[in-house]
Amino acid sequence: MSTNFKRFLATLLSLICCITTGTHIVTAKHSVVNTTTKTAKSASMISGLFNLIKNANKDKFCETAANENTIKVFFHKEAAIKEVSLEEYIKGVLYGEMPSSYSLEALKAQAVAARTYTVYRIRNGSTHRNGADICTDYTHCQAWTAGSAETPYPEAIERAVEETKNTICTYNGECINAMYFSNSGGATEAIENVWGGREIPYLKSVASPGESVFYDFCQVKTYSYDEFAAAVDSYFDNDADIDVEVGIKNIQNIKRSPAGRIISAEIGGITSTGLQIRAMFSLRSSNVYFSQDGSTISIVALGYGHGVGMSQCGAQAMAENGADWVEILKHYYTGIDISLLC
Ligand SMILES: [Zn+2]
Repeated sequence: MSTNFKRFLATLLSLICCITTGTHIVTAKHSVVNTTTKTAKSASMISGLFNLIKNANKDKFCETAANENTIKVFFHKEAAIKEVSLEEYIKGVLYGEMPSSYSLEALKAQAVAARTYTVYRIRNGSTHRNGADICTDYTHCQAWTAGSAETPYPEAIERAVEETKNTICTYNGECINAMYFSNSGGATEAIENVWGGREIPYLKSVASPGESVFYDFCQVKTYSYDEFAAAVDSYFDNDADIDVEVGIKNIQNIKRSPAGRIISAEIGGITSTGLQIRAMFSLRSSNVYFSQDGSTISIVALGYGHGVGMSQCGAQAMAENGADWVEILKHYYTGIDISLLC
């Protein structure tokens, strides 16, 4: 690891700060209720607030959510679509997406993010041609791990889903696209810096403290010059102009987002996106740093995943520092409210 990179890493980590926000609960699709701006710490208090909202707006809520109580899930290993209750599906997602040993507040935040992600897909059109609302393939939708009579879900999984039942994140009264990933490497990423396209107000870059203690924080890969050239040639099908002798100088004009991820770089004369570079070297993220030592090239990737939305490791770090699930979600999804489906 070069001195410059160590210095960068130290600077990055020193910038990390913790942000907490107040609780602000509104109704899904409606902005009728603004219950409190004071942070609610107890589950019973939050539950009580939800009941008030539910009773005041019951008809509108239930009309909105009527077709979301049961959803069509494509179980990709069985290649079969089954109708399951939204809440039962969310238990499997939570069990598949986050270790049940994580703090209850982190598990609750993940349960709400997963529920929100699911409802967003139902309301905004599924990408499954077979008629399913969502699938169990984590590379396409969300991970899902079954519980059964023989191997029931851990109590923490059951509790996190039950205690956040029917809760989603909204922005201006609309269900948000609640993207999430494993580890940001120190700061999350604005969506337009990963996939291009328009900005989304609730998917901005935010600091994500406390992630460096997790395994997913840092990946280091080392290549000989020949191996490096072979990886680039393989990705570009030999169209890149790679000079094996110059090593790291094959990489030019690296442009980064303020959060650090590569937006573009020229590799062998070909302009590549951060996602392409991640795929080229099978990296965990596009927050990538190159260094050269003698005849080897080292690649360091910070974090794990696309970096947009909620960091699962960051959620756990916040929970360990006393944040509740509402504070976690409001930290990672800028300007959102917590709302009830029904
Ligand atoms: Zn899918």
